[in-house]
This record gives sequence, C-alpha cells and structure tokens, in this order.
Amino acid sequence: MREKPFSHQERAGLIQKLQSEIWGVVVIGGGITGAAVARDASLRGLRVALVEAHDFASGTSSGSTKLIHGGLRYLENFEFGLVREALQERELLRKLYAPLVKDLKFVFPTYKNQPPPRWKLSIGLFLYDAFSNFRMPYRSLNRQAALAQLPQLNPTHLTGACVYADSFAEDYRLVTELIKSAVNLGAVCVSRLKVNEISSPSADLREMKVQDQLEPSTAFRIQAKTIVNCSGPFSDAVRAMVSLEPTLKVTQGVHFLVDRKVCPIDVAMVFPDAKLHRILFAIPWGSCVFLGTTDTSIDRPEQAQATAADLKYVLEVVNQYLAKPIQQRDVFQSWSGVRPLIQPKKNQSNSQISREHQLEEAPARVLHVLGGKLTSHRSMAEEAVDYLERYMPLKPSTTDQVPLFEESLHLPRLQDGGEKLHPDFPYLVADALYAIRFEMALSPMDFLKRRSSIFYETDINNPTHRELLKNVLNLFAQELQWSEAEKTAAWAQILKDYRFDREGYDEVTVS
Ligand SMILES: Cc1cc2nc3c(=O)[nH]c(=O)nc-3n(C[C@H](O)[C@H](O)[C@H](O)COP(=O)(O)OP(=O)(O)OC[C@H]3O[C@@H](n4cnc5c(N)ncnc54)[C@H](O)[C@@H]3O)c2cc1C
Repeated sequence: MREKPFSHQERAGLIQKLQSEIWGVVVIGGGITGAAVARDASLRGLRVALVEAHDFASGTSSGSTKLIHGGLRYLENFEFGLVREALQERELLRKLYAPLVKDLKFVFPTYKNQPPPRWKLSIGLFLYDAFSNFRMPYRSLNRQAALAQLPQLNPTHLTGACVYADSFAEDYRLVTELIKSAVNLGAVCVSRLKVNEISSPSADLREMKVQDQLEPSTAFRIQAKTIVNCSGPFSDAVRAMVSLEPTLKVTQGVHFLVDRKVCPIDVAMVFPDAKLHRILFAIPWGSCVFLGTTDTSIDRPEQAQATAADLKYVLEVVNQYLAKPIQQRDVFQSWSGVRPLIQPKKNQSNSQISREHQLEEAPARVLHVLGGKLTSHRSMAEEAVDYLERYMPLKPSTTDQVPLFEESLHLPRLQDGGEKLHPDFPYLVADALYAIRFEMALSPMDFLKRRSSIFYETDINNPTHRELLKNVLNLFAQELQWSEAEKTAAWAQILKDYRFDREGYDEVTVS
C-alpha cells in the first residue's frame, strides 16, 4: 500500500476532521502504548483518533533502553509470568516487526566474590531460554574465553561470562511506524494537541477539550464513544480530569552516550550493581555506545534530566567492569526517560516495583492504561481494545498476525533528496524530507531525535556537527516556508534541547 502523505500540510484538515464526527475511540497520548492502541483498534475497523500533546514518541517512548526483552533481572524478583509473557512478545515482534526488532548479543561477566555467581546466572538464563523455547540458547564462558570474546573486560577477579541473546529496537521508530500504520488504516492522529478537560455530555458520549499547542489561542472539542488514556507518566494528570486520585510513582532513568571509539564493542555488556540489585548496560548503537540506566524517584515527570550524581553512579558501576575506564569528559550526550510505575502497596525499592500494567475504567467509557513496558505494548493494546467490546461490537485483534510492514522496510519514495545532508554523515536529504512529508516531523528536533538518531550521534559543540544541524534547519525552513524569525526560533530550540540534556551534569555549556 502506498503511504499517505502525513505532514504539516494535512494538519489543519485533520484538526477539522477531529471535530466533525463522533469517534469510536479517542486515544490520548502518542507514545508506544497509544500508538499500539490506535493501530489495534484501526485494524478492527473502529473509527479511531489519537491526540498527542507534543511530538509522537516525545515522552518515555524515546527515552527507554530500547530493549525488547523478558527482563533478566525480574527473575530475581520471581516475576516469572511477566518474563515469560514478555519473551513470548519478543518472539512475536521479531517476526512481525522485522527488520525493526533486531537480535543483540549480551555478555554478562562474572567476578570472584561478587553476585551473581556464574552458576546462579546460568540457572536464570536457562529459565530465560526455556521461556522462549531455547531458540537462542545462552553459553557459559570460562575466564579465558570471556576475555577472548570481550578484551575490554576488567580481568582482575574475572571468573568468566555468560553470553545470551535479546532484542533491540529504536523505540521512537517503533512508535512512528505504528502511528503511520494506524494512519494508513484510516485513523486520524495529530501531534501538538493537548487534552485539557474530559466531560460526559450524556451517558454514552464523552467529550474532550483540546488545546492546539501550535496555535495557543485555539481550543476545540472532540467527541467519542470511548476514550483510552495512554499518557504514560502523565496519566495522573489526565486521571485528575475525571477526579481520580494519583496512582503512579514516577522514576527517572538516564542514559549517557560515548563515541564507539571510546568503548569499541560490538556486543552489549551487562554490569550488575550488587548494592542496588540492578543491572546496567553498555549498548552499541550506530557510531556510539550508550550506558545506563538509573532508577531514581522524581516528583513530577517534567523534572526528568540527567544530573552529575547520575553520571557519577553510572560511571562508577560501569568502570568496575572495564579494563580501560570511561572518563567523564568522554560523555557527550544523555537522555532521560520517566517510568510510569504503579504505586506499590508495600514498601519496595524503585527497581523492585513491578513493571506489570493495569487497566482501570473510571468513569464508564474512559479507560486508563497504566504502567507496562515497551516490549509489552502490543499485548497491552490488545487487552485495552478488547475491553471496549462492552460498548461496541468488535472483531478480534489481529496484531499478533499482521506484519507491521507489508513489504520490506521501504526507503523514501521521493524524487528528490539523493544527496547527503552533510558530507561527513551517512544521512540523506531524503531522510529529512521523508520525515517532513510522510512522518509529521514538524520541527528539526522531531527529525533529529525521533525520526533518526542524529541527535544522539552529534555534539553541538563540534563545528562539523553544527554544520549538519544547520543544514537540517535550512531544509525545514524551506519545506515549511518559515520566516527568518521562525527559523531563528527553531535554531534557539535546537540549542535549548541539546543544552537541556547536558546542563545537569556537564560544566561545558552549549553556546
Ligand atoms: C529509562 C527507561 C528505560 C526503559 N527501558 C525499557 C526497555 O529497555 N524495554 C522495555 O520494554 N521497556 C522499557 N522501559 C519502559 C517503556 O519505555 C515505557 O513503558 C513506555 O515507553 C511507556 O510508553 P507510554 O506510551 O505509555 O508513555 P509515553 O511514551 O510517555 O507516552 C505518553 C504520551 O502521552 C502524551 N500526553 C500526556 N498528557 C497528554 C495530554 N493531556 N494530551 C495529549 N497527550 C498527552 C505525552 O506527551 C506522551 O508523548 C523503560 C523506561 C524507562 C524510563
């Protein structure tokens, strides 16, 4: 199927459309959960609309560790059901979302007198493999073989390693593809629209007051038979619109980026933090490696930002395991994500709180999808849409059968843009044009951070990288026909975003 244009040019028409009918379901939030709900419901033939307050995937769904996994460490908390289900989902997504979900090899080193010992890790990995029918069985390596596999390991007290496989997917890319799939199936998905109020004009009708973030004076109403709140860490704010008490505990997770030359690995590394019973990762990604993550409580999701304490903690854990420690000056970028965890009944540490999700309906016809994981988005969405059956006839979900891509992942079908965005980078002008014309990228940052990985591979203080960013800015200005003032404001926003992800831990300011 040819993809529909999905760009700034269609936006006004889509907003008109939102107001012109009573929708079967309106989804609040365009992260992975909302995008998956919109696609599932569209595949079942419902009339679906989705509104996202910022850009698609601008919340937690671009701030994760990007693993489609069972979660090895949940075995320690005896959450076998969660791990088994997640591994089943991993296997399904590897098939249906190919080539977006890729296999990745992990090396988990073991050290003398330090948990976990290799025998215990082997039991955990045996279970992990059993839950996915031993498709990619783990291997246990002695010290010599571990060092041969990964010479970067700190050899002092090393006893060996276990090597196992999991999967990796660019979280924001998953969201974009799910949104595009929903749009191609007839859903109306619009970004920069914030829901501010929810009301019930009659027993079988729900209404939302929506604010256009690009036209601050414009607010309008959308009507629906049902609403699904998929606002992730912001769920409590949306729940408050229907007078519900807060239920989330939000914690922040930070990742730091270094150049691949600083940490030249082709496999992912696992670093246990024995003190906090957590594991951290170093994951190779394009020209860089990212390190993380943390798990610290914050009061409000808007507060999430990497701090000097986060950097100290991550480097302390990671450097215990590396022959050549990573220096603070090697870190050039970070990102932070907010976990929407369900407040536990008993006193538990952040990493012990279950990642299970929950559905809650209140008032009738307003469903809140709480918690969850990137890995479980498909099954969560299926469950959420199934729930709506009490209000309208529904076909069964087909998201466990229908591939995300009908053909192999297509390259932009554009006549123009074959040249590079910058001679030193592999990205094409066509990549940016495609994001603008077919993926609703409305600002350079939408493209740099959530349609490509350019943001994560660039250092704003590097003059060559800056040239690339200026080229992207110029392209947006040309395509969206910006005035000089709009262009200046967009550049200021780029600087602000780069600065934001550095200023909390770095003395070097972005200028
Ligand atoms: C550090 C970290 C690492 C993680 N790593 C992994 C991992 O490796 N694997 C894994 O499976 N899971 C992982 N997770 C969990 C996973 O990332 C999240 O569960 C998932 O991304 C949540 O998606 P969501 O769509 O529910 O929320 P979000 O992605 O936050 O989306 C919610 C959206 O709602 C929008 N919104 C909010 N209020 C409104 C409103 N009033 N009107 C309109 N829109 C609104 C927001 O702008 C936002 O875009 C990780 C989480 C974190 C924080």
